[in-house]
Amino acid sequence: MQESDNSGKNERNAFLCALPCRQWLKVLGFPRVAPCLPWLMVLPVLSVTMASCSKSGQDITPSTAAAAAVEKSEAAAPPAPQIPPADSRPLPQIDAKRAFEYTREVTAFGPRYIGSENHKKLENYILNHLKGDQVEEDAFTADTVEGKFPVRNIIAKFPGKKDGIIVVLGHYDTNYPLRNTGYVGANDGGSSTAILLEYANQFRGKTRDGYSVWLVWTDAEEAVRQWSDTDSVYGTRHLAEKWEKDGTLKKIKALFVMDMIAATDVNILRDTNSTPWLLDLIYTAAEQGGYQSHFYALQGGEEDDHMPFVKRGVPCADVIGVPYGYNDVFHHTPQDTMDKLSPKSLEIVGNTILETIRMVDQR
Ligand SMILES: [Zn+2]
Repeated sequence: MQESDNSGKNERNAFLCALPCRQWLKVLGFPRVAPCLPWLMVLPVLSVTMASCSKSGQDITPSTAAAAAVEKSEAAAPPAPQIPPADSRPLPQIDAKRAFEYTREVTAFGPRYIGSENHKKLENYILNHLKGDQVEEDAFTADTVEGKFPVRNIIAKFPGKKDGIIVVLGHYDTNYPLRNTGYVGANDGGSSTAILLEYANQFRGKTRDGYSVWLVWTDAEEAVRQWSDTDSVYGTRHLAEKWEKDGTLKKIKALFVMDMIAATDVNILRDTNSTPWLLDLIYTAAEQGGYQSHFYALQGGEEDDHMPFVKRGVPCADVIGVPYGYNDVFHHTPQDTMDKLSPKSLEIVGNTILETIRMVDQR
């Protein structure tokens, strides 16, 4: 995966495009032999909407954040519930330094792909952090094109006084196809694991005035070969089906997916597969904290752990910081390392979603 000359780079680009890069790469419509993301250079200048080749048929376009946010929700059906006005209280604060240290510790395990020893070590690390909390596991065996793997979603439940649940998901596995490249997924897998650990610290030891919050460290989010409906999000596909059967889905007021949130120059994509009113609520929370320039510079259809829940009508927001580095150069490469990340980004995204949770409580 390390390139030393141009031909190596072309090889890498071709490989990357063939990889289960997230679906948003596919929607750009670039042939696999082309560099993955020249679109970033093109789009803002020419305001071009790229042809789509995804099943969802959605396009990635520059977004004028707030204006786009409002337009989007007005165009959406069913009608958006009223967004409560931003209040003057300061945003809740996570301990961003601690969250960054968690990211470092998680990344230090090395590659954490499904079926690996490091993956098991990380499960124990997460469970150790949740001692004394109400923890459940959703464990099963995934039958994949690369064989059978044990998969385990870890769920920590923090009770609230209101009847209903807010769910926050974040995957802890790292990319399987890159298992022999030294890939450690500091941002992609590391940051999502860490922010949930920090959220557990925030919710622990008190009954919330609002809804119950369930944190879910999801497993096998990554494809084992190439991203498709059947080779991706194994953990959440299982969990959504289970929660549909046992009636949990009906109680979910909002579901957030935290993914790749710690890049130094983080900007959260306005994901058109997510629920518009929830995206707007996030933007309002971001404005309240003065963080809005880190949200919605681009919009496009993203496939992630939220999709099994989107398909079942749950209000969802995929909170994902893509592109990761200029032209997305660090995404699904061995360059996804701690030096690309910043505690400030964890603070920006972490505080914003914590405030959004509080706003959902008030609805
Ligand atoms: Zn990934």
